[in-house]
Amino acid sequence: MRNSVPFESAGPVAVVSCHVERPLDDAAWGRFERLQRRRPGGFDVIALIRPPDPDYGEDEARWLERARLAASRARFGLHTHWTSPTHARPTGGDPSERVRHETQFLRERGLDPVYFCGGGWYTDDAVRAAVAELGLIDCTPRSGKPGPGVLPTTHSLGALARAVVRPLPRYVHAYFHDFDLLDVRRRYALSASLAVLGRRATKI
Ligand SMILES: [Zn+2]
Repeated sequence: MRNSVPFESAGPVAVVSCHVERPLDDAAWGRFERLQRRRPGGFDVIALIRPPDPDYGEDEARWLERARLAASRARFGLHTHWTSPTHARPTGGDPSERVRHETQFLRERGLDPVYFCGGGWYTDDAVRAAVAELGLIDCTPRSGKPGPGVLPTTHSLGALARAVVRPLPRYVHAYFHDFDLLDVRRRYALSASLAVLGRRATKI
């Protein structure tokens, strides 16, 4: 079933996603693209991509090329920034409308988002209802277990680095941002953590 994730497992399970915040920034995109191709720890890194924002002159053609590449390599999702490319949380209007609109934008271009993650971790009842109605799996919650329609995001880069040297939680959903990869120390920390995580957990 598309909208559910196998989570009944004897040992720890893990999944990794990237908030692709700067899909049109060549440096950030280049780092993400290489990382996703390299599959650190054996993980298919889920791209949670922010669609191009025409109000800020973002180039749709280049965006589409990149989004299609990311979606060809791993499951793929929508990352909504409600206000601007650099301001994730909403400042007005009906946030659920933007989720519907952006999902439609992706689908009209042949992209099939499986996941959703609200920018700045924002959500509300109407957004949750829209996400469920659109058949997307919600990665916005920051705790809890995976289940039908939900795949909580549990570990930042720092939390992941600490978690992998201890008894592993039963469920780890690690996330990072594309721009984290521009920092050499963060990049190495991520690769090292994912190498350990990949050995210790079952990938879901
Ligand atoms: Zn974001």
